[in-house]
Amino acid sequence: MRPKENSPVNIIMRLKKYPYKKNIANNWELIFQNPCNITIESFQTGTVKLNRQGTINPDHPLGKDVQEEELEVPILSHWIHHESKGDFLLDTGLDASYIRDKLGGLEGSGIDEFQLKENENIAYHIQKKNIHLNMIFLSHLHSDHAAGVRELPKDIPYVIAKGEYAQYQPEIPDFLEGLEELYEIDFSHAQHIHPLGPSADLLGDSSLWAIHTPGHTPNHISFLINTLDGPILQTMDAAFIYENLKLGVAPSDYTWDVDKAQKTLERIIDFLNKYPQVRVGTGHEAFK
Ligand SMILES: [Zn+2]
Repeated sequence: MRPKENSPVNIIMRLKKYPYKKNIANNWELIFQNPCNITIESFQTGTVKLNRQGTINPDHPLGKDVQEEELEVPILSHWIHHESKGDFLLDTGLDASYIRDKLGGLEGSGIDEFQLKENENIAYHIQKKNIHLNMIFLSHLHSDHAAGVRELPKDIPYVIAKGEYAQYQPEIPDFLEGLEELYEIDFSHAQHIHPLGPSADLLGDSSLWAIHTPGHTPNHISFLINTLDGPILQTMDAAFIYENLKLGVAPSDYTWDVDKAQKTLERIIDFLNKYPQVRVGTGHEAFK
């Protein structure tokens, strides 16, 4: 779930500004009135074992009764297909190196272990569906969300939020090796759309939005997909499981700033209460 100390990798990365414009609509109601021919399909790329206590912050008054329990949850990557703009991924999940090595070839103390079966790695899913990726958006750079970059095309743009790479650079394992540039979404210029806050219209037609959801990491991103069947919010790791949303308690494990994570979760819950037509997926539970 988090990058850990690993042999330092010297990556010379060019950071470029991801170009996007403000959308003329400045509220979700209007945005949802203009849905797009865009679909989402989630791939499972292995599993990770979490402790229920910590997945739900036990120091929060509403989380104090949560008992210790091991939860084995999926590691997800989401394929976005846009009728005219092509194919995208939201996070990559794991690459095949985890099939035979729970540590994915990383060395050092505290490296996270994942379980991956044959034919579950992200390149397998992409090949099987014959997807030609145009671009990859990463919610953050934790290994269960970004390790798959190692087996994906390097000649397409990769996009994260501004500041996320700088924050983790010294600890980054080799997931990004071979990439020469990263595009960054600068949320400081993004429009604020209540109640979620800074939101970027990624493809310029209201179809796919990046939402600034700090806390899990400093510049974590959640995504909103404005489909013809209704809007879908993918919280990514702003909520690990549905219980975070149900109880109103953010995770504390693997979390950069627990207070910020809690505030972000509360904004998401406000949004979901205000717009009950929005379906939601969390970081580690498949979208229902
Ligand atoms: Zn994470």
